[in-house]
Amino acid sequence: MHPLVDSVVVSPFQTNCYIVGCQETKEGIIIDPGDEPERILAVVNFHRLKIVAIVATHGHLDHVLAVKAVKEATGAPFLLPKLDLPIARSAHIQARFYNWLAEPVPDPDGFLEEGQTLSVGNLSFQVLELPGHTPGHIALFRADGKGKGCLFSGDVLFAGSVGRTDLPGGNWEVLQNSLRRLMSLPDETIVYPGHGRKTTIGEERRYNPFVPR
Ligand SMILES: [Zn+2]
Repeated sequence: MHPLVDSVVVSPFQTNCYIVGCQETKEGIIIDPGDEPERILAVVNFHRLKIVAIVATHGHLDHVLAVKAVKEATGAPFLLPKLDLPIARSAHIQARFYNWLAEPVPDPDGFLEEGQTLSVGNLSFQVLELPGHTPGHIALFRADGKGKGCLFSGDVLFAGSVGRTDLPGGNWEVLQNSLRRLMSLPDETIVYPGHGRKTTIGEERRYNPFVPR
C-alpha cells in the first residue's frame, strides 16, 4: 500500500515538513521539522500516527529547529546524517541572523548513512547519500514494484531547480553527481522536495535546466 504523505510548510524559509506513515500499522516518521512544531504535531495527531523516527535530510536550520519540540512530544529518536552534525549544532546560532529565536537542536540518537533501510511499519525506505548542498545530505527513497516509488529529496532536487551550493560545505560538482544518481531512478518516481511543489523524476529529467543529462 502507498504511504500516507502529508506536509506542513514551516519557517520563514517555507520548508516542507513531511509526515509520512504506514496506512496499515499507523506508524510514521516526521521529515525535516524546521519550525512550528505545534502545526506539525497537529497533523500527526489528525492521522493518529505513532511517530517512530524524526529524520533530518540535512542540518540546515530550516530543517531541524523544531526537532527538540517534536522529540519531546513524541519520544521518537532523532536521526541525522553524521557529516551534517556541525551544521545542526550551530543551527540555533545561524537563526539569530534572521531574528529567529530557537533553542539548540538535540544531538541525534542515531546517524543516517548510505545503504541503511529505515522501516516505518510495513514500509521501508532506502537511505541515499546525496552530498553537494551540504556534505552529509541524505534522501529517503521507497521503490514500489507495482506503482509509483517516492523520494524525499530534501534540498537536492526541486521542481525546476536544484539545491544551492554557495553555503558553507556546498559543492556544485558534488551536487551534479548526486543529481546524476537521482536521474537513474524510474521516471514515475514522485519527488517530495524540501521546498516547493512535488514533482516526478521524469518531469525533472525533461524540464529541469540544472539537472545533468
Ligand atoms: Zn538546506
